Amino acid sequence: MANTLTLEIVTPDKMVLREEVEYVGAPGINGEFGVLPNHIPFLSALGIGGLYYKVNGKKYYVFVAGGFAEITPTKVSVLAEVAERAEDIDLERARRAQERAEQRIRQQQEKVEYAATQAALSRAIHRMRCRQYASGEGSLH
Ligand code: ATP
Repeated sequence: MANTLTLEIVTPDKMVLREEVEYVGAPGINGEFGVLPNHIPFLSALGIGGLYYKVNGKKYYVFVAGGFAEITPTKVSVLAEVAERAEDIDLERARRAQERAEQRIRQQQEKVEYAATQAALSRAIHRMRCRQYASGEGSLH
């Protein structure tokens, strides 16, 4: 039996990653899920958060927000609305996005806008966490 699986992450505008990996941990909409090779097939919607995968025991992080993951025994296909490898995350941009979102929340705007602002804040915070984890400060699991 194979001891790796193919991880493929695509967004509407780019192919983010295609790699042979040992494990994938992903932010499902109902919580984190983990996938080893030969997993039974399933489909999950994705939330906002850090996806990580292992190659030779080392963890790598990718920020994802929205979309789906399709799991088969040999492959994890992630079709994300937005995805960035940790090293491609612009930390300053995420900090500015966090500040803008927090300011809008303090101004207590309409409910619909409030939900969008909460999502923007969550994206900014998870982007910063992915960068922290990738540089060895704390980790997902
Ligand atoms: P911002 O307000 O800074 O645009 P956002 O959360 O609204 O942040 P998204 O709508 O999630 O941004 O993403 C829009 C595009 O910009 C996507 O291609 C995404 O990969 C990219 N992007 C957003 N923020 C960052 C970041 N901090 N570093 C790298 N790429 C980013």
